[in-house]
Amino acid sequence: MAQGTITINGSPFPFESGQTILQVAEDNDISIPTLCYLKGASPTGACRICVVEVKGYRTLVTSCSTPAANGMEVLTESPKVVASRRETLELLLASGNHNCSIGSGREGDWSDFQMQAAASDQFDELCPAWGDCRLQDLAYQYQVEGGKYPRTENRYPMEMINPLIVRDFSRCILCGRCVQACNEVQVNRAINFGYRGAEAKIVAGTDVALKDSKCVFCGECVQACPTGALTEKKARFSWRPWKTEKIRTTCPYCGVGCQLWLHVQDGRIVKVTGVEDGSPNKGRLCVKGRFGYDFIYSEERLKTPLIREGETFREASWDEALDLVAAKFKQIIEESGPDALAGVSCARSINEDSYQMQKLFRAVFKTNNIDHCART
Ligand code: SF4
Ligand code: SF4
Ligand code: SF4
Repeated sequence: MAQGTITINGSPFPFESGQTILQVAEDNDISIPTLCYLKGASPTGACRICVVEVKGYRTLVTSCSTPAANGMEVLTESPKVVASRRETLELLLASGNHNCSIGSGREGDWSDFQMQAAASDQFDELCPAWGDCRLQDLAYQYQVEGGKYPRTENRYPMEMINPLIVRDFSRCILCGRCVQACNEVQVNRAINFGYRGAEAKIVAGTDVALKDSKCVFCGECVQACPTGALTEKKARFSWRPWKTEKIRTTCPYCGVGCQLWLHVQDGRIVKVTGVEDGSPNKGRLCVKGRFGYDFIYSEERLKTPLIREGETFREASWDEALDLVAAKFKQIIEESGPDALAGVSCARSINEDSYQMQKLFRAVFKTNNIDHCART
């Protein structure tokens, strides 16, 4: 039920009890930029990118953590707001190794700068997040090129030792999204903020490598990270968003039916992410769904049916194999009755396939000897 009305950029909007300014804006297609805000987790107001101006307030407020109030008048892109965002972006770009073109200064007009930025993708040392970085996007949007403040020295070496995830602390802006993704969304509680002040760092356990911590390599933190601080090891540098096509599908590993985006480049999957607005997983994935896609390219994978003849197998067509299986089922039922048959549905089948299989056994074969393999 509407609790009152707030005005955003001159237009009135109803809001419900408990809604923040950001939520009311999003509900009404008004874009307020964010960096640390993670939908579904408690707002922290840490990055201060989402600040807005509220009439009568002495300072700007963070829209992600400020509740909407009746009669509030909000400006989301006033000169004061834009100046604050630009300053925040300058500080963030100076906080680490942001070596994309944003951080390199520019000459000429804005389009020259963008051309220079595009050309720079040829450099090997270019950040693996180039083209898929929220900080970079916002720097473009607010025309911030960095260089206003001296760059902070990198205190911590890159962590390459983990099997699936690379941690580059020099590109971490300490937004905390990974911590929220791990602790609040997946509830794995593997990482948290460690140390203080300039020494601050996201630590796993007692500041060990992810592989030596409680981390289960679900990759939720990687999906949540807005910069190049966390990247998938397998997709690092080989994946750029403009080179890939995104195809939505259902995870093949179990019956939950998580929704996936396959990032496909030249006919090969190079990365998998969760569909953020898709049920049942809302973007979340387990280690298998996110990282276990290589098996489809295995040379050892069976691609044609095999029929056993004595001690050996021979390749057969699908028609021949299915006809043989159907004939054997019929023969067993005729000779020994339907309860001589039993079926075990594969744990990797989707729910719909398992449903069809139990239908086949119960409705067609007339037996209840049907089960589901619990091993995933
Ligand atoms: S993390 Fe983002 S802003 Fe930093 S270098 Fe990489 S692309 Fe640029
Ligand atoms: S991979 Fe999963 S468990 Fe490991 S730190 Fe990231 S969110 Fe936590
Ligand atoms: S690793 Fe990424 S998500 Fe985590 S605090 Fe750093 S920038 Fe934010």
